[in-house]
Amino acid sequence: ALPIVAIVGRPNVGKSTLFNRIIRQRLAIVEDQPGATRDRLYSKGEWLNREFMLVDTGGMTFDERDVLAASVTKQAQLAVDESDVIIFTVDGRTGITTEDIQITEILRKTQKPVIVAVNKIEEFKKQEGDFYEFYSLGFEEIVAISAANGFGIGDLLDKVIENF
Ligand code: GDP
Ligand code: MG
Repeated sequence: ALPIVAIVGRPNVGKSTLFNRIIRQRLAIVEDQPGATRDRLYSKGEWLNREFMLVDTGGMTFDERDVLAASVTKQAQLAVDESDVIIFTVDGRTGITTEDIQITEILRKTQKPVIVAVNKIEEFKKQEGDFYEFYSLGFEEIVAISAANGFGIGDLLDKVIENF
């Protein structure tokens, strides 16, 4: 079986954009409103001739905040249970949120490799400050990316396949 790589993170950080970027197709729905991905979505990905199954853990559409929060942590837990490597996606523009911390608490309990992808860093020089804040979450593997323009995706995938 192929190794499973799960993309987790709160709504609107760019998980589906990252998923589409890695598989070089547009299977996942990208939306400005949180919760656009209705189910978990799987597709085969490849980097330097290493194949893997990539999972976009979007969750479902919820109206109430408490239900949304519950779904974020539930998706993170499912990803921990089912995957071999976890890409924890956060938003470099908004900084750390309460939901990011809830997810961090779940991911800290696993022995599985977690790579933090600080997304929406289009220009590292201008946005360095946004990036370093995320070291405070306590994960060692951290990389600045822009799922939208492709910056850092190679570095991220290098770190992912190191863990197979
Ligand atoms: P998801 O809810 O985590 O799956 O996030 P989406 O992939 O649906 O993206 C949410 C919003 O963030 C959309 O408006 C995307 O266009 C935007 N977005 C995603 N990646 C980037 C990025 O690298 N840079 C910027 N500036 N916006 C991004
Ligand atoms: Mg999505």
